[in-house]
Amino acid sequence: MSQILISEEALHWKEVAHQVAEEVVRPIAKEYDERQEYPDEVRQAFAEKGLLGVWIPKEYGGHGAGIVALCLVIEELSRACGGVGVAYAVNALGSFPILVGGTEEQKKLWLAEVASGEKMIAFCLSEKFAGSDAGGMRCEARLEGDEYVINGEKKWTTNGGIATLHTVFAVTDRNSKSRRISGIVVEKGTPGFTVEKVEDKMGIRAVPVVETHFNNVRVPVGNLLGGRPGMGFKHAMQTLDYARPGVAAQGIGLAQGALEYAVTYALRRKQFGQNLASMGVIQDMLGRMAAKVEAGRSLVLRAASAVDAGDKAVVNRLAAMAKSFSTDIAMEVTTDAVQIFGGYGYMKDYPVEKYMRDAKITQIYEGTNQIQRMVIARNLMKEAQSFSHLADYIPVETYEGYDSEPVD
Ligand SMILES: Cc1cc2nc3c(=O)[nH]c(=O)nc-3n(C[C@H](O)[C@H](O)[C@H](O)COP(=O)(O)OP(=O)(O)OC[C@H]3O[C@@H](n4cnc5c(N)ncnc54)[C@H](O)[C@@H]3O)c2cc1C
Repeated sequence: MSQILISEEALHWKEVAHQVAEEVVRPIAKEYDERQEYPDEVRQAFAEKGLLGVWIPKEYGGHGAGIVALCLVIEELSRACGGVGVAYAVNALGSFPILVGGTEEQKKLWLAEVASGEKMIAFCLSEKFAGSDAGGMRCEARLEGDEYVINGEKKWTTNGGIATLHTVFAVTDRNSKSRRISGIVVEKGTPGFTVEKVEDKMGIRAVPVVETHFNNVRVPVGNLLGGRPGMGFKHAMQTLDYARPGVAAQGIGLAQGALEYAVTYALRRKQFGQNLASMGVIQDMLGRMAAKVEAGRSLVLRAASAVDAGDKAVVNRLAAMAKSFSTDIAMEVTTDAVQIFGGYGYMKDYPVEKYMRDAKITQIYEGTNQIQRMVIARNLMKEAQSFSHLADYIPVETYEGYDSEPVD
């Protein structure tokens, strides 16, 4: 079993992120949430401080600090602003398909551009009619000579309009069941590739989420990830296993940030002649909130460590556990923080309602929490063979028609 491993380097990047969060992000979080605009100074800080190279291996221009470091950075940024947390994390999401499926040449070119902060990247998997069922996508890429011609639409592209590179998943073989989809890198400015509807969101308002449209978009065949068609769905699923600990870290950052505001407020707000913090009921709430955050953080680090260790047997279920558990915690803790602020918590003048709005999406994107629990359950059923002897201790009369095949 892989252990939780936090390197000195990971702690260094956490510290760098903490500084960026407190000096650059927190002071402008409210303003950019209101304006629903991407803060350019944050983008510059990411690049200047080297934060965009944290998860990218050294041989491709990054710092090679791994997924634990990535999660610590996401937590620190999200603690100050959930929108900025995902504006950063989505670059990891967009680059993972290249990392897991790209050729050496592709990794050297595109990952280096992301690591340096020269190019931001987005991940285009979801479509209007294909969300949880991403495999049901319709966007198509047809091979014509030495080019792929892409037609269709992608929904919910986070970083769309800001990003220069896009990892786009499209159907390259309609008739194949297992090799239907391929990942293709599309650059901003390619004729026919447009950013359409910009979404007006409940939370994470500092990062754009848009529809991307493809109208006879021609890209060189060399942009096909891995140089082999049909590998896209596998690469997309592997990507989500790598990226979900980061969404979980976003949830933990939001929960931690809201908890800190709640404690700060509870120590100062007086009712009935005493601080809220001295009231047993409030202490009970704060105690529960803090324990949940710590439990979620441990799970995030466990899942991220498994990715770093290449512990394939457990990555899928741990990533799903960390994502669903920590983001549910984010929703619970941010809601409790609003409760501790009372009526003021519900007001936009006060910081905690934003945490609650930002937290909601973490339960939805990169696979809803319902889907995560299905993933966990399927893993459990696959493992059932290892404890099948327990059946000997259960009376058999309820097993009529039992089929020894595991549920799929
Ligand atoms: C703000 C935002 C940013 C996003 N960013 C990106 C991005 O950058 N790139 C990208 O590719 N995608 C992105 N997404 C898409 C996101 O991953 C999807 O919204 C998500 O996967 C859910 O898909 P859906 O919205 O179509 O919901 P649906 O799949 O329609 O699900 C609706 C409800 O049904 C439930 N459900 C569906 N199927 C099942 C089932 N089999 N069993 C039980 N329950 C089920 C779901 O849990 C959910 O509660 C983003 C979405 C949002 C809202």
